Amino acid sequence: MDIENIKKKISDISDTIIENKEYLTELDRQIGDADHGYNMAKGFTAVKIILEDDFKSVKELINKIAMTLISNVGGASGPLYGSFFMKFAQGLDDSDNINKKQFADAFSKGLDGVIMRGKAQINDKTMVDVLEPVSKALYEDKPYSEIVKLAKEKMEDTKEMKARKGRASYLGDRSIGHIDPGACSSYLMIETLMGDLDG
Ligand code: ADP
Ligand code: MG
Ligand code: MG
Repeated sequence: MDIENIKKKISDISDTIIENKEYLTELDRQIGDADHGYNMAKGFTAVKIILEDDFKSVKELINKIAMTLISNVGGASGPLYGSFFMKFAQGLDDSDNINKKQFADAFSKGLDGVIMRGKAQINDKTMVDVLEPVSKALYEDKPYSEIVKLAKEKMEDTKEMKARKGRASYLGDRSIGHIDPGACSSYLMIETLMGDLDG
């Protein structure tokens, strides 16, 4: 996939997040402080603007997205998604396109960045519950349609989990019964990115 196609995908992802601003905020109202959709929509509105710039490499583009998210999203999710994109970029060379194998490698580095920063493990009821199984499935070269389905299941599985990281962990058992907002934003991005990539 070349830079222009990646920009189109990032633009679509931004639109999805902006369209789901109220829904993500509503999820965060149940177990957090009702700002996840607002934080993310603000960040991706800024991302849409930088997409108009010229980039020489995918690495440069993804780095710029990381910086933009870090300075515009705020909350816990800003630095976490910022780390994802920053480490993702570090996993790339200076070329103007990216293949499936490079994507899987970079995604795994991005996940490492989220874990390094947030120290969440699987079942802690965070975005990691979606990102980690997706990373594994990319490595196993599963079809994208299956990865999207998997991401959706993993997001839904967070509903029954008790939060052990972030603001929702303050609620203890009362965090059970609600989908994690960050798991949902991760799923939405993955669905938008991979929903039509097979074939
Ligand atoms: P805040 O909690 O600061 O208001 P947001 O509402 O934007 O930030 O983001 C909350 C989301 O961030 C959670 O739903 C969860 O998925 C994710 N999150 C919080 N803490 C961590 C962590 N330590 N590791 C991974 N993800 C986390
Ligand atoms: Mg919040
Ligand atoms: Mg907040």
